Amino acid sequence: MYDVAIIGAGINGCSIAFELTQAGKKVILIDMCSVAGGGSGAAGAFISPKFSKAGELKELLHEAFLYSMDFYETNFPHLLSKRALLHIAQNDEDAESLRTYKEQTQLELLTPSKEIINAITQEAQTQENISINAGLVNAEAMCQALAKSAKFVKEKVESLVYDEGMWNINEEYCAKEVVLATGAYESLLDEPYIQLRGIWGHRIDIKTTTQNPYSLHQFVSISPSKEGVVAIGATHNVHYHPQTSTEPYDLEEGRAELLAKAARTLKLEDVEIIRDYTGLRSGSFDYIPIVGPLVLSNATLQNKSLRLHTKTPDYESYSYYPNLTMINGNGGYGFVLAPYLAKILSEYILSEKKISPRLLPARFFARWAKKL
Ligand SMILES: Cc1cc2nc3c(=O)[nH]c(=O)nc-3n(C[C@H](O)[C@H](O)[C@H](O)COP(=O)(O)OP(=O)(O)OC[C@H]3O[C@@H](n4cnc5c(N)ncnc54)[C@H](O)[C@@H]3O)c2cc1C
Repeated sequence: MYDVAIIGAGINGCSIAFELTQAGKKVILIDMCSVAGGGSGAAGAFISPKFSKAGELKELLHEAFLYSMDFYETNFPHLLSKRALLHIAQNDEDAESLRTYKEQTQLELLTPSKEIINAITQEAQTQENISINAGLVNAEAMCQALAKSAKFVKEKVESLVYDEGMWNINEEYCAKEVVLATGAYESLLDEPYIQLRGIWGHRIDIKTTTQNPYSLHQFVSISPSKEGVVAIGATHNVHYHPQTSTEPYDLEEGRAELLAKAARTLKLEDVEIIRDYTGLRSGSFDYIPIVGPLVLSNATLQNKSLRLHTKTPDYESYSYYPNLTMINGNGGYGFVLAPYLAKILSEYILSEKKISPRLLPARFFARWAKKL
């Protein structure tokens, strides 16, 4: 019997496994593939803030960026590469956002080195840019390191039943608590208000004689060179889904798109593609991640005193699945957000610390129920 069963061993599942095992909990981590076998294994995994003018997601990512850089450096310094980042505007609108960002930010701004300016194309040199200290992590090794103290089981979870104060998983494993960290791959509960968008992404590793000292972000992200290898990612493909598409994914098309976009930023020479990575990002419909307990929609709707048509829904009046939470919807910022969100979720599980309503799954229930 386990204290907590986590379903999904991507960066979200592994980060929460880390927090809970650190707190002395007995944790089982179940994934139908491997650790980092879903979207997380495909990630670059650049740790960067969002360079936009304003907005809730920008604020959240700023906090998460500071938190996760510190978290990775403190706990796994050997898996974090601290590197300067150069973000180059794609167009005039983007340039305007960067100028506003630079005026407002408290992050230290760097002057790009001569080396990186010489390495980028003429076109990229003429665009507005911003440079800060940032990082990238080894995605797969990071997930494995985070999950080290949990018991890992490779198995697809098909049944989840709550009985006599205990969750029974696949009629095989028992746990007091369940955390769903299944990304965009499966929906284990039939709750219509939870909807996630799977956004397929393709990333490549190339060998090149071009030396790139920075993390570069423009039309795609380009990693600093490591032993002659550079990572380029990622595509954003909303039309392909590995579980529902009838045609196989066109790898050659993805490769061509990545190389063409990267070549607009970096003077790439002697290129040889050595590895492809693909996976699904999981995005929520308001772009903000989803963290916390799940509303039992049928039971909640039966509550006759429930006020559905209100601007300020009372989430505490809803009915919830017992001891069941979710962490999902990180979009393209999984490795930036996961340590920060896992901290929030673990504090909720361990000491019932309240989660910001902005992150709660209940916000989607409120919106869905209003339309009924
Ligand atoms: C190409 C690409 C590049 C990216 N680059 C970056 C980047 O540079 N920086 C960044 O921060 N983010 C990046 N991201 C985004 C980041 O990878 C995602 O936000 C993150 O992986 C989401 O993690 P997750 O744990 O929610 O989901 P996943 O990693 O997808 O994990 C979910 C897991 O759940 C398992 N699962 C689902 N259902 C079941 C079931 N029923 N039973 C058992 N197991 C189940 C799946 O097998 C999967 O392993 C990138 C994503 C892609 C695709």
